Amino acid sequence: MTNIILLGPPGAGKGTQAKRLVDERAMVQLSTGDMLREAKTSGTEMGKRVADVMARGELVTDEIVIGLIEEKLDQGASGGFIFDGFPRTLKQADALGALLARHGAGLDAVIEIQVDDAALVARISGRFTCRTCGEVYHDETRPTKTPGVCDNCGGTELNRRADDNAEALKTRLMEYYKKTSPLIGYYYAKGQLSAVDGMAEPDAVAAAVAKVLDKR
Ligand code: AMP
Repeated sequence: MTNIILLGPPGAGKGTQAKRLVDERAMVQLSTGDMLREAKTSGTEMGKRVADVMARGELVTDEIVIGLIEEKLDQGASGGFIFDGFPRTLKQADALGALLARHGAGLDAVIEIQVDDAALVARISGRFTCRTCGEVYHDETRPTKTPGVCDNCGGTELNRRADDNAEALKTRLMEYYKKTSPLIGYYYAKGQLSAVDGMAEPDAVAAAVAKVLDKR
């Protein structure tokens, strides 16, 4: 069982790499962003409370996301967990350490996906996904073969995130540098950090991630 964190700014490719690991290594992806969007769509009380905060690109409270992760950890995963978009603050990182310890587990690697700011803005501005299967596309670099139809599953509900706009993205990047990037030092000091070049093609990034995991 392997537990890893994918760390990096919005648009670094954390979700894309997490999905590959799910397919290839039977690991379970825990994306707090996906969980929060799901809560919003299904109209739960918590979902309603976080909707505006998310639309602005700010972080929701530590208590909410730690609670979401705690629930999922209790369900277990034989292949291990991929933490995607969590932790995003030092408090969340401490909480994750304590929760894993309570389950007699720990972190095997923290993989920082490094991407230039200019590339993040370009990637996020054109991004859309298939609502049915989650496949990620881009207006310029990865359009669907047939406009409006998912190449992967044939779904026709293609969706742009409410916070994938210039204004919210500016806030999301600021939140990342202010509150999340200190985690790079936090995990480096614990000897758990590895960095991969996120500017490379997805296949090359996946190979670099695999190398980190297989080296352990
Ligand atoms: P993501 O899909 O990871 O980009 O997350 C989308 C949004 O959900 C973020 O901009 C935050 O508003 C919220 N969010 C997701 N994960 C966290 C987290 N670990 N801590 C606080 N807010 C989060």
